[in-house]
Amino acid sequence: MANKEETIVALATPNGTGAIGVIRLSGPDAIIIANDVFKGKDLTKQASHTLHYGSITDGDFVLDEVVASLFVAPRSYTRENVVEVSCHGSSYIIESIIKLFIKNGARAAKPGEFTLRAFLNGQLDLSQAEAVADLIASNSKASQQVALQQLRGGFSNQLQQLRDQLVQFASLIELELDFAEEDVEFANRDQLKKLIHQIIKIIGSLIQSFELGNAIKNGVNTVIAGRPNAGKSTLLNALLNEERAIVSHIPGTTRDTIEEVLNIKGINFRLIDTAGIREATDAIEQVGVQRTMEKISQTALLLYVFDLNELSPADLAADISQLVKPGIPAIIVANKADLVYGNRSLDMRLPDGVELIMISAKEKQQIEELKQIIYNSAVKDQLTGHETLVTNIRHLEALQKTEEALLRVLDGIGSVTSDFLSMDIKQALHYLGEITGAVTTDDLLENIFSKFCIGK
Ligand code: GDP
Repeated sequence: MANKEETIVALATPNGTGAIGVIRLSGPDAIIIANDVFKGKDLTKQASHTLHYGSITDGDFVLDEVVASLFVAPRSYTRENVVEVSCHGSSYIIESIIKLFIKNGARAAKPGEFTLRAFLNGQLDLSQAEAVADLIASNSKASQQVALQQLRGGFSNQLQQLRDQLVQFASLIELELDFAEEDVEFANRDQLKKLIHQIIKIIGSLIQSFELGNAIKNGVNTVIAGRPNAGKSTLLNALLNEERAIVSHIPGTTRDTIEEVLNIKGINFRLIDTAGIREATDAIEQVGVQRTMEKISQTALLLYVFDLNELSPADLAADISQLVKPGIPAIIVANKADLVYGNRSLDMRLPDGVELIMISAKEKQQIEELKQIIYNSAVKDQLTGHETLVTNIRHLEALQKTEEALLRVLDGIGSVTSDFLSMDIKQALHYLGEITGAVTTDDLLENIFSKFCIGK
């Protein structure tokens, strides 16, 4: 899919006007192509990792004064010759310089093509290349840390080592196939079992880490549900600390869902305010209620808000049994605690995974405590920033398939012939290899890199 003989060019900084724009060239002719239009020192004679001031000219016409940064192969991001030209950030100048480079033999880079080359040239493995995209997209401290950890090798180094050990067993078992008549065992079955148990253990914890990894990378869908006037919009505002949703006295006015993002200690919770769950009387509201139920079924966390003073214990119990679904953590928020004069007892049996807290959304009482409970629902342990977390669904699926194949190997040891064993080990190796990129197909690469931005 990539012809590395070609030199590619793209703007590496965002489109539009900025103080400076950085145009990147990578490929065998990068330095020659830049040098052809660069007035200043002869770039082809300069050392790697040096900066050069000069101007870019199209014939006699001076386009801009620029700084060219030189990276001589293999000491660059792509391991090819790379020149980065920092010019003034006018779209006219940028476009003209790129056109000039293309006229001189470069070709416009495809999305992610620089990183693809870094991968193909062995600078990064596949999961590291994917981490580059995650790092660029990271929008919180936690997601930045997880992406950086993956970029630095994260779990792919570990998997690569285990894969290497498994490859050795695979080849010993292959050898047994050649001596099928003689019934020999070159691969020590106990050692093989031990290795597989070890890999399964590591893979198991990686698979488990996805829930948190995904929460960190993509945020946690959080539905706020409750009857009209329970204080859902007021709570949303209190959590976000701003006047966002329109708060009203007329029951049922928050008809549609509103999404806002609440960041608690680096985790993004996408708050979805809903139309409430009262028996709908008019058609529009019915749609809203239906949507609420749909949202809850797709959610990762439910905040159920009720008015402590209004809702009878029987109605509360009915709402909880209707809304709280097994496997979806829920927080029951007893609101308007500022209005409670008598002691309303909230003694009730709550289903597993359900927390209860009494707050006042209007008076902003217990809001920080509620935030802590929300945070704890996604992050069970203290985050150190050095966790090895799986954040990528592609990796998750490959890990699950590896696990299945390895379990088949374990099952088969001692009972099936070497050729079956060999097949399952090969499957496991295949899926492990898909994570690090030891096994790739053009489709897979196309799929991954087409999601990158141009210039990366
Ligand atoms: P929603 O329909 O569930 O979104 O409810 P709203 O947030 O619109 O609130 C309904 C009414 O209850 C508004 O008049 C709010 O000011 C009031 N309200 C909300 N939370 C509290 C609270 O904690 N204490 C008191 N006293 N009033 C509240």
